[in-house]
Amino acid sequence: MKRRQFVKAAGLGLAGAALAKPAIAQSAPEIKWRLTSSFPKSLDTIYGAAETLSKAVAEATDNKFQIQVFASGEIVPGLQAADAVTNGTVEMCHTAPYYYFGKDPTFAFATAVPFGLNSRQQNAWFYHGGGLDLMNEFFKSYNFISMPGGNTGTQMGGWFRKEIKSIEDFKGLKMRIGGLAGKVLAKLGAVPQQIAGGDIYPALEKGTIDAAEWVGPYDDEKLGFNKVAPFYYYPGWWEGGASLHFFTNSAKWAELPKSYQSLLTTAAAQANVDMQAKYDARNPAAIKRLVQQGGAQLRPFSPEIMEACYKAAGDTYAEIAATNENFKKIHDAYMGFRNEEYLWFQIGEYTYDNFMIRQRAKG
Ligand code: CA
Repeated sequence: MKRRQFVKAAGLGLAGAALAKPAIAQSAPEIKWRLTSSFPKSLDTIYGAAETLSKAVAEATDNKFQIQVFASGEIVPGLQAADAVTNGTVEMCHTAPYYYFGKDPTFAFATAVPFGLNSRQQNAWFYHGGGLDLMNEFFKSYNFISMPGGNTGTQMGGWFRKEIKSIEDFKGLKMRIGGLAGKVLAKLGAVPQQIAGGDIYPALEKGTIDAAEWVGPYDDEKLGFNKVAPFYYYPGWWEGGASLHFFTNSAKWAELPKSYQSLLTTAAAQANVDMQAKYDARNPAAIKRLVQQGGAQLRPFSPEIMEACYKAAGDTYAEIAATNENFKKIHDAYMGFRNEEYLWFQIGEYTYDNFMIRQRAKG
């Protein structure tokens, strides 16, 4: 507020009201940000988390703080979302940190690692187990700060053209699977392939690949994998609870008033909870449709397969940790936390779920 206006207002006996105004104007500036998503609009669960955040922020500020969401490819391709935040092309992105496994495998701990935490435990680690602080310390050199922004829950093990009855069946198996999980399966003789979402179906149909993992029933159904690879395995042990994140450019974050920082943190937390809730609400109907109408044949990975994969994952971690200090530091903290979590989860949580599942089966 200009001094002349203030003097005038004071003269009219409105000093109190006039004084309050500049403080409000400073703490609620008009800001327009751009957020690039790593996902297409068709994935309403995943893409929708960024819209949830954007809507919450706009509504709480009477549209003063606007974060416009762009789908994958509109500003940059989905796998370059983090780079666009690092170099300031956009203020924010919504992405799966493990996409940047190639820069440093340490990124994977922010999303999911083979035999890692489930969705609840992942949040416990981030918010109250020191996990988010550890990740943000690591992300400093990439010029962004991170907030969890959604979880898929435990994913499915994917679609296979043929049954996987023993470890031998992984030999030479061409599977669409990325990152650390691909490295683990390669130890068992599989040939991991990196294929973007839209290209998986034709590759499976033609037999260019033998298997593909994506997310879970609700998302997988849309891509129609059941028509060309009917054996639907579980669990996706490489994604016990895959976390997505919002990355915010560090300098842009520092420019925000404290109230906007607080609001953004709250909105991200809301998006984080909302995405998991959507999946949990929509997956039951999707799995029924896939099995009852879509011809999907559910198959659990056998204990023998799970044990062999668990061992291969441990070997993979040891190899990476031997040459990567960041990875070792976060791996040790993460795995220590995992052990404590399962010490607790085996008591009330597991016993209760197990009992309820048996009751339901009885009718
Ligand atoms: Ca997946």
